[in-house]
Amino acid sequence: MAILTKAPRGTQDVLPSDSYRWQYIEKTALDTAAQFGFQETRFPTFEHSALFTHSVGDTTDVVQKEMYSFQDKGGRDITLRPEGTAGVVRSMIEHGTLNDALPVRASYVTSCFRYEKPQAGRLREFHQFGIEMFGSAEPIADVQVIAVADRIFKNLGISNIALEINSIGCPVCRAKYYEALISYFKGYSDKLCATCLGRLEKNPMRILDCKSPVCSDIAKDAPMVIDYLCEECAEHFDKVKQMLQEIGISYTVNPTIVRGLDYYRRTVFEFVSQNIGAQGTVCGGGRYDGLVEILGGNPTPALGFAMGLERLLLLMDTLGCEFPQPKRCDIYIAPLGKEATGKANKMVMDLIEEGFAAQTDMVGRSLKAQMKYADKIGAKFTVVLGENEIQTGRVMLKNMQTGVSREVCLGNDLLSAVYDITVSETIDQITEEYSSLLGK
Ligand code: ATP
Ligand code: MG
Repeated sequence: MAILTKAPRGTQDVLPSDSYRWQYIEKTALDTAAQFGFQETRFPTFEHSALFTHSVGDTTDVVQKEMYSFQDKGGRDITLRPEGTAGVVRSMIEHGTLNDALPVRASYVTSCFRYEKPQAGRLREFHQFGIEMFGSAEPIADVQVIAVADRIFKNLGISNIALEINSIGCPVCRAKYYEALISYFKGYSDKLCATCLGRLEKNPMRILDCKSPVCSDIAKDAPMVIDYLCEECAEHFDKVKQMLQEIGISYTVNPTIVRGLDYYRRTVFEFVSQNIGAQGTVCGGGRYDGLVEILGGNPTPALGFAMGLERLLLLMDTLGCEFPQPKRCDIYIAPLGKEATGKANKMVMDLIEEGFAAQTDMVGRSLKAQMKYADKIGAKFTVVLGENEIQTGRVMLKNMQTGVSREVCLGNDLLSAVYDITVSETIDQITEEYSSLLGK
């Protein structure tokens, strides 16, 4: 049955040999956000479906077409999270976290589920790194949130990614804007797709986000929300732009960005790459001041972003960014014979206790095959352990990179030899990095 050996459409495996790349970007993102005061939060993979229909919005593509929803055996309506924000906000309200000193800052790495047409950079199960900040209505919060994403890209060595920002106003400016938008789209009511016709009176801004070629063509000449901003929203947006400039983060204003989720207000932004094809938006976010209240909390201004990790990896590969290689094996012990196997096992335990990465034979390979294997896993050192070595207590420690061997005693002598060499390697590396930094 092919179904047993083929993952469902739109899902991806991360193989053991590849996971270091994920660990690297996740750690870089979490650590960078932590420098700005964000601490990691974790929340359920599934929530009550109503959480998403209330927050993301029942006229959005996500809710209308993309959610993985089902009834559990207790008859509850459940949905696999299509995004992170709703779950984080729910969790904050439930635990009274927003009653603590504000702002409250949270970061997360999660899987998300959307029933979409799988293609490069678009999956059904994908992963996001995101941050949320609660309790600040000030423009500086918008700027800091954008700066976190900017810094993450810089720390990962991504340079050519463009920040596009827009303001989509507040309910006050939207009243006038909606009127203009509805009357514009009414002129095309015979051409709009069925979904957008349904959105026309309820939520006309969603038509601007429709992926159908006909609707997006019509949307090109539609009135733009940025021309309808009230005084406060315009002032907020000006301040955000000014402060971005002050810290040297360049941006362009893209008045067509409206974002695919209903809860956004005022500042919205995307980081877009031209290098990875049609799915070029690596990060999207904005302010969602009304959401905490909609979900039953006290009115609390809030904002955040989410970046798609698959798209981020795609971009890093395209740009040839480097991923630091993980430590795999400092030393491989090659035993010859049954007695040596037990001794090798003990040596591996001692080395691991000392903090080294150590391996020995698991499958009864010949000496030649063991050496080949040690080479394949990139072992820095090897030791052959035969009857003679056990008797004399002396072994040859071979440096696999230089091919040079030297004799050491088993026990502390071996440990300190491996230690000396790994430490001197680290020192070499640090010196190299340091001098390249100084040279800059
Ligand atoms: P798009 O317009 O590409 O569908 P979106 O507006 O639906 O994106 P958001 O809900 O803002 O996306 O999600 C934030 C980020 O998550 C996106 O910028 C993207 O990098 C990533 N993302 C969204 N949907 C997918 C998906 N199906 N597969 C892979 N990554 C995704
Ligand atoms: Mg989408």
